[in-house]
Amino acid sequence: MTNNEDLFKKIIGHCKEYGFVFQSSEIYDGLSAAYDYGPNGVELKNNIKEYWWKSMVNMHENIVGIDSSIFMHPTTWKASGHVDAFNDPLIDNKDSKKRYRADVLIENYIQKIENKIQKDIEKASKKFGDQFNKNEFITTNKRVIERNQKIEEIKKVLTNSLSENNLSDIKSLIEELEIKCPISGTCNWTDVRQFNLMFKTEIGSTSESSSEIYLRPETAQGIFVNFLNVQKSSRMKIPFGIAQIGKAFRNEIIARQFIFRMREFEQMEMQFFVRPGEEMKWYEYWKKARLSWHKNLNMGNKNYKFHDHENLAHYANAACDIEFKFPFGFKELEGIHSRTDFDLKAHMQYSGKKMQYFDPEINEHYVPYVVETSIGLDRMFLAILTSSYVEEMVSDDEKRIVLKIPPQLAPIKLAILPLTKKDGLPEKAREILHSLQTDFKCQYEEKDSIGKRYRRQDAIGTPYCITIDHETLDNNSVTLRNRDSMKQERIKISELKSTVLNKLDISSIL
Ligand code: ATP
Repeated sequence: MTNNEDLFKKIIGHCKEYGFVFQSSEIYDGLSAAYDYGPNGVELKNNIKEYWWKSMVNMHENIVGIDSSIFMHPTTWKASGHVDAFNDPLIDNKDSKKRYRADVLIENYIQKIENKIQKDIEKASKKFGDQFNKNEFITTNKRVIERNQKIEEIKKVLTNSLSENNLSDIKSLIEELEIKCPISGTCNWTDVRQFNLMFKTEIGSTSESSSEIYLRPETAQGIFVNFLNVQKSSRMKIPFGIAQIGKAFRNEIIARQFIFRMREFEQMEMQFFVRPGEEMKWYEYWKKARLSWHKNLNMGNKNYKFHDHENLAHYANAACDIEFKFPFGFKELEGIHSRTDFDLKAHMQYSGKKMQYFDPEINEHYVPYVVETSIGLDRMFLAILTSSYVEEMVSDDEKRIVLKIPPQLAPIKLAILPLTKKDGLPEKAREILHSLQTDFKCQYEEKDSIGKRYRRQDAIGTPYCITIDHETLDNNSVTLRNRDSMKQERIKISELKSTVLNKLDISSIL
């Protein structure tokens, strides 16, 4: 097991032990790719939502929110292209009977070549020391050049086959590359087939009146079908945006990596409606704005990178992902897509209703273009947990586990801890709790030694512990312990709120 796999396992265990995330229906041995958020998990999730909502909706005069239903008229999904094209190419290994996404098998193969190149670079860098010039090495080393050429060739065939829906070419590529099933170790593959990712169910109480509908696979369509309702009722002028947070459902072929890929998950999406021809300007604007939203959390600037899509979805004229460095590598955290007028035009065509906007500035009717930002709430949750989990030695023989969650998003902001259970300390501590709990999510704890209580708060990422001791009764001061530095300062109770407010309020990072 690599260090990263080991770390990831520990984080998953930590999430369960400290009430962040549980396997769904665990007592029945669980349901794959479905998870429940525990008491600390739901607080963290709500704080992420608040940070996103405030930055998108509160901070923009021209962005408003909605909350549309999960069930939509089935024609919605015909118009959006999901019925015909929301497919993943799947392939089975006949020996292990395991199912894979064919494109992912090929991408993993590419990743292996990339890892080899990385190793070549590291070796050469060690050998040449200060003299090493990475660029020169990549462009002149024969083996690296050949490996990069191979990657380019594979990517070209994959991109073409996917865009032309040529499934037999994808299978041939898997065979040519001699990609083996990781379980059986054989190349005994079935043909590649398309698999639609939407969940179907029935609506209506009797079989005669029931009809087939889908659980929405993205929240975006609820925004598109409401475009004119929102524009008119909120008197919005283009450019303007509609934001939404809500559940989405996808029958993922392989759902693994904990909450990274689930069958039921939550999205935070914003569709920004612009004048045709101005979409690239706004696409660049939102790329920048979204990256700085992430970076303001101080989770390490080198943990983010943009990845431009080579294989554009049927609705897009430009698209990229913001990737985050998870323990299993750089993976998509958020997508930014220039969706053209595809969706609104399609709904106009299928519904027969006009989806146009009259632009008084240029005196013209048109169907707006759309730039979308779409982030997975659960992936954001995972990004925060994996980047904040730290094991560190606090003395020669004592280790602590601390979640260095951005303080503004921490599930519990303040722990209120009377040093002992007697001498009036609990009463004083509760008095302080009551004066702070309307502003901050606080936790009161009096059980166990103060050291143990600090460790428990470290493990859930509480940025500050307030300790009430005998001196408190004399002079109305407490100690304030900082999670990261573990330093304690003595401060007046009357100054507590203002001292921590700036550090804990989401507004400070907006
Ligand atoms: P992927 O390539 O990883 O399947 P996608 O490109 O299909 O993702 P989008 O349709 O762009 O994803 O959805 C927007 C965001 O929703 C993604 O960036 C991701 O954060 C989140 N997301 C998508 N699918 C899942 C899933 N199965 N589980 C959790 N989050 C998801």
